Amino acid sequence: MLTYQVKSLIKDPGLSLSVHEVLEPEQLILGGERIRFLTPITIEGSLRHIGGWIIEFKGTLDGAVQMACSRCTKATHVPLHSDITQRYIADRQENESGDDDVEVYQDEVIDLTDLINSEICMAIPMKVLCRADCQGLCPVCGKDLNEGPCGCSQDDTDPRWDALKSLLQ
Ligand SMILES: [Zn+2]
Ligand SMILES: [Zn+2]
Repeated sequence: MLTYQVKSLIKDPGLSLSVHEVLEPEQLILGGERIRFLTPITIEGSLRHIGGWIIEFKGTLDGAVQMACSRCTKATHVPLHSDITQRYIADRQENESGDDDVEVYQDEVIDLTDLINSEICMAIPMKVLCRADCQGLCPVCGKDLNEGPCGCSQDDTDPRWDALKSLLQ
């Protein structure tokens, strides 16, 4: 649970609390089959009372996942990094700043769980390539073209014509 008791911070602006969390891969259920966490996700940062009833979390998130290359499906290592800033305001206080990005906290407890989950999701790319010039798989025979050309004809004809051509020969 990424929850922090911030009662002691509320006394004076400027007070801060350091945040150090390590989320083991088995705690991370995001991504399902498509994504495998290779390392724990580490979160380093602090919660700081920046005035009024506002607490600001500032920190970084680091880790690594394994995903399939979107061209050749090879398992590919993807480092994750994100810089995070999020403000929280006590529920007893009107949000006078007009800042919609401020989250509300209750009972002097700040829960970073939702923030961290969404930051992990955003840090994971939709698509990865094992290398910038990945050649992908042959659409006809499925051979990994990074390992060399296959025997299939390299013109761009629809493979369905091949069956027709062989009938005509
Ligand atoms: Zn690839
Ligand atoms: Zn082929």
